[in-house]
Amino acid sequence: MNFLQTQDLEVDYGGIRAVKGVDLTVKYNELVCLIGANGAGKTTTLKSLCGMLRPSRGEILYEGRAITGKRSYELVRRGISLVPEGRGIFGRLTVEENLMIGAYTRRDHTGIRSDLENIYSLFPRLLERRTQQAGTLSGGEQQMLAIGRALMSRPRLLLLDEPSMGLAPMLVKKIFETIKRIAEEGVTILLVEQNAKLALAISHRGYVMESGKITLSDNADVLLKDPKVQQAYLGG
Ligand code: ATP
Repeated sequence: MNFLQTQDLEVDYGGIRAVKGVDLTVKYNELVCLIGANGAGKTTTLKSLCGMLRPSRGEILYEGRAITGKRSYELVRRGISLVPEGRGIFGRLTVEENLMIGAYTRRDHTGIRSDLENIYSLFPRLLERRTQQAGTLSGGEQQMLAIGRALMSRPRLLLLDEPSMGLAPMLVKKIFETIKRIAEEGVTILLVEQNAKLALAISHRGYVMESGKITLSDNADVLLKDPKVQQAYLGG
């Protein structure tokens, strides 16, 4: 059974259709990436999966059950968590306060404590800066915080929107290594990225999106060698 599946998904902004009949699947424990140029509809797809946008047509199935049109808070409870583009952290709050916000639906205090420790071991930089105001963190540290905060909800499905955006190459590499590690620890991941090369390098499978439609999908190693992908997204 597919862990996540969309069927003929369409999402509109007013009269403009941004997602035009998308079918994609993510299996349990898979790391799948969705790549494509600016404005292809990647973010819109993710937003519809986590309940931030209501699809105008089609179905979203999670663990075989329809979740189409359900609200974000309900989906967080069911294990779906989004790390938004631009990170969306609370700048006036400390690093640790931001992390604790990620656990707002939980009541298992021991579990919360141990997850906090895990996140600090995944991102030692956040431990060093746990009492610092989040707005004063560097871009890379804010990205780590956004991922850490999503992990605090103990997601089963993590949706990541362009985690490499605005980061120096060294840091991008580190963030991607961490994403891979999170996946290896048993979190299913759907990763939206413009950095196709790095995204495909850590993913099992990939989808290419163009003008609101999926135009290619295959195993990541196959896509990496595909001449069309190489030309359009990997710089020839
Ligand atoms: P990027 O990689 O640049 O983030 P994307 O693939 O994530 O691009 P989307 O952000 O999903 O693309 O945008 C898809 C299309 O929908 C674009 O043409 C965009 O202009 C349009 N769009 C996005 N948000 C809105 C909105 N709130 N209102 C109207 N149109 C929107």
